[in-house]
Amino acid sequence: MKKEDCIFCKIANGEIPSKTLYEDDYFRVILDLGPATKGHALILPKEHAENIFEISEEIASKALVVAKRMAINMTGKLRCDGMNLVQNNGEAAGQTVSHFHIHMIPRYHGDGQQINWVPGDCTQEELEDVKREIVG
Ligand code: 5GP
Ligand code: ZN
Repeated sequence: MKKEDCIFCKIANGEIPSKTLYEDDYFRVILDLGPATKGHALILPKEHAENIFEISEEIASKALVVAKRMAINMTGKLRCDGMNLVQNNGEAAGQTVSHFHIHMIPRYHGDGQQINWVPGDCTQEELEDVKREIVG
């Protein structure tokens, strides 16, 4: 199902042109308009789902297979030195387009990009508390 007024629905389904790297029945992989590095791509499901919470397990699992194949292909062609997969869910996590997507960000030694977090500090007790909160 497509969603009215969703730009990634329109791109994924070919209503708005894009630099398409790959397409099949379920996905379109496009170049990001604001690339973090050369080759920054987005895997867009054709079916609308806002985020990881909404996407079907079938599409979620297929998406990772596409990511794996694209990672091999892009790394071979671009001669990049690494590859980040980034997938944001919710505004607090930096999601700006509410249609599930996986970023594929080729990395090059010295590219100056940062896709990092600041490591925190915590005790074993705190880890145990969090573990209990999640798994009981
Ligand atoms: P988010 O922050 O939601 O994880 O990522 C959204 C990404 O979509 C950003 O990297 C942004 O540059 C990209 N983007 C937003 N609008 C368009 C568009 O119309 N076309 C393309 N190709 N990329 C877009
Ligand atoms: Zn959509």
